[in-house]
Amino acid sequence: DASVKTKDLDFDGLIDILKTTPNETLIREWSQYYTSGPHLAGQNYSQAKWTQDKWDEFGLPDTEIVAYDVYINYPLDHRLALLQDKSKKGSKKPDWKVKYEASLEEDVLEEDGTSGLKDRIPTFHGYSASGNVTASYVYVNYGTYQDFEDLKAANISLKGKIAIAKYGGIFRGLKVKRAQEVGMVGIVIYTDPADDGDVTEAHGNDTYPSGPARNPSSVQRGSTQFLSFAPGDPTTPGYPSKPGVPRQPANISTPSIPSLPISYLDAVPILKALKGHGPKAKSLGKAWKDGGLGYKGVDYYVGPTPDSIALNLYNLQNYTITPLWNVIGIINGTIEDEVVVLGNHRDAWIAGGAGDPNSGSAALNEVIRSFGIALAQGWKPLRTIVFASWDGEEYGLIGSTEWVEEYLPWLNKTVVAYLNVDVGTTGPQFAASAAPLLNKVLIETTKDVLSPNQTVPGQTVYDLWNKHISTMGSGSDFTAFQDFAGIPCIDMGFKFTGHSAVYQYHSNYDSFYWMENFGDPGWHYHVAAAKLWSILAARISESPIVPLNVTDYADGLQKYLDSVRDLLSKDTELMSAMTANDSKILDRLDGSIARLRNSSVEFDAKAEALAKSIAENPLPWWKWWERIKLRIAIQNVNSRYKNFERQFIYSKGLDGRTWFKHVVFAPGRWTGYAGATFPGLVESIEDKNVGGLWKWSSIILALIEKARATLITLP
Ligand code: GLU
Ligand code: CA
Ligand code: ZN
Ligand code: ZN
Repeated sequence: DASVKTKDLDFDGLIDILKTTPNETLIREWSQYYTSGPHLAGQNYSQAKWTQDKWDEFGLPDTEIVAYDVYINYPLDHRLALLQDKSKKGSKKPDWKVKYEASLEEDVLEEDGTSGLKDRIPTFHGYSASGNVTASYVYVNYGTYQDFEDLKAANISLKGKIAIAKYGGIFRGLKVKRAQEVGMVGIVIYTDPADDGDVTEAHGNDTYPSGPARNPSSVQRGSTQFLSFAPGDPTTPGYPSKPGVPRQPANISTPSIPSLPISYLDAVPILKALKGHGPKAKSLGKAWKDGGLGYKGVDYYVGPTPDSIALNLYNLQNYTITPLWNVIGIINGTIEDEVVVLGNHRDAWIAGGAGDPNSGSAALNEVIRSFGIALAQGWKPLRTIVFASWDGEEYGLIGSTEWVEEYLPWLNKTVVAYLNVDVGTTGPQFAASAAPLLNKVLIETTKDVLSPNQTVPGQTVYDLWNKHISTMGSGSDFTAFQDFAGIPCIDMGFKFTGHSAVYQYHSNYDSFYWMENFGDPGWHYHVAAAKLWSILAARISESPIVPLNVTDYADGLQKYLDSVRDLLSKDTELMSAMTANDSKILDRLDGSIARLRNSSVEFDAKAEALAKSIAENPLPWWKWWERIKLRIAIQNVNSRYKNFERQFIYSKGLDGRTWFKHVVFAPGRWTGYAGATFPGLVESIEDKNVGGLWKWSSIILALIEKARATLITLP
């Protein structure tokens, strides 16, 4: 009513609304909407429009759809067959007989409605190359860089062969990249149930939909772009894919050999046919443990198969330039140049996507509905809050990357933090990664929300969390914010564990039915994710002093340096090639980090004192001079916090992947998802490049000093 609307809503009132508004019934409804049919990147305009309309209805003052023209692929045709040569000895031409034709299809399940849709999405890889190859094949374990090194050391012939790799460990595109680099002509990637923890058929669990174990026919789709080079539209690295822009060749960051993802059901005959050929997989090294298909008769041999046993891998993709759509919503704050951005992607590989990404999308709607109610009740936001529903994440973080590339100058000037929720819920375990500046506010926020699985009444998310905060790697939409723009980020959600129902990632069974019956029956984790997200945003947008902490950053740097030193000390080859002078390379960073830490402790203390004085003695209007001085002091502290992480951006970028500009955080060159800290140093060690160590330690040293300088000249 009008009398409520005229009164300002204070911080506690706001938090109260954020804690009580999200509800299970509505969040389930949003999930059901998003997961009711295909919404692949560039093919989900109706969902973009629906999202915008909902946000308008929830009371966002300003919403828009921002489109980009991007280069992506859609599947046309595929085939995978195990062949045996039946030709007579000495004949020049093989006479292939099909021993097994892979179905390349997931089972249609009566219970799970979207698994049987007529327009369901075929199994394929984003950015995979079209091709038709027939060759003998090699089992390459997880297809990591080291796995390929182990294969080379064992003299396994790889050139001209097809790889069969397990999913897991690293980003799938890097498996394809390495297979291509060593001269293989195609790659098949399957999901081994050994990587599902305890909850497997072999351990006596029923398979989905009767039970929590993986359905044997489930297939993990996913992008095979070479994430470690650059995310976003591969034809526009560093600039936005607006209509008519010049485009670069895509082949630097996308594969040239064809690939297909398959289920373990389709993998079994292929793996069995390796038996007796080449060494046993487990003889190749400690990373080469047998997978979990022993109960199906698989022995895990490396191969290669003899010339008479081959795979035919056929992949046909339609490459096109097509629009995709981000939805952007804005609540303007009274401080215009301090902004918090919240984002989740909307596009999914499958009709469902109840976990990835629409558990996050459903939560985002409840976050926005909550803020809408607060606005209606008179809340006057201090900072500006921007909400984003990204398109094209799955192919390579496209929507978010293009947007950051387009608005970089504004983002650079204004953004205090980016808060990402991709997979909001797939199980009961809270997990988060964060830039160290945000550790404290993340931890405080987890104490604000009750856990859905309390064993003692009143337990919060914090109480049931292992308190581990990962460093920022990649694999989701925070990447351009963190690594390209130098904006501190958080990525969080409730995740499956080795004991909860198996999350069938990027498969048809990441569906509404799975979520309602296995992933989050009752929808309580969805609601908890929404509350964490909105309260985190409110703490950052409403605290007079932005709740960043530079001491945690300095501590992080010291930890990362220690791990680089550790890596170096283990590299006896490189160590023995270094002079006495060389071996002091890292030591000069210690002093600089220690000085940064001192300045940080001082700065955080001043900021805290300022925050306290604001909270404890609000100045009356007639002390107007004091008030102006206070406002300037606050602005000063806040802008230094805001700009702190930007100081670690090195405009020339990392060696060999110049799009990545952050000298502290990057996706690992050969991991993709897992982050590398001080990537320039780590890669110089990996490459046994002493000159690189000198170069990067000098760059880092200079940037640490630059960051420190932003803290020490407080008026
Ligand atoms: N999150 C998606 C995946 O892991 C996309 C990652 C990417 O292409 O960078 O497959
Ligand atoms: Ca671009
Ligand atoms: Zn996702
Ligand atoms: Zn995904």
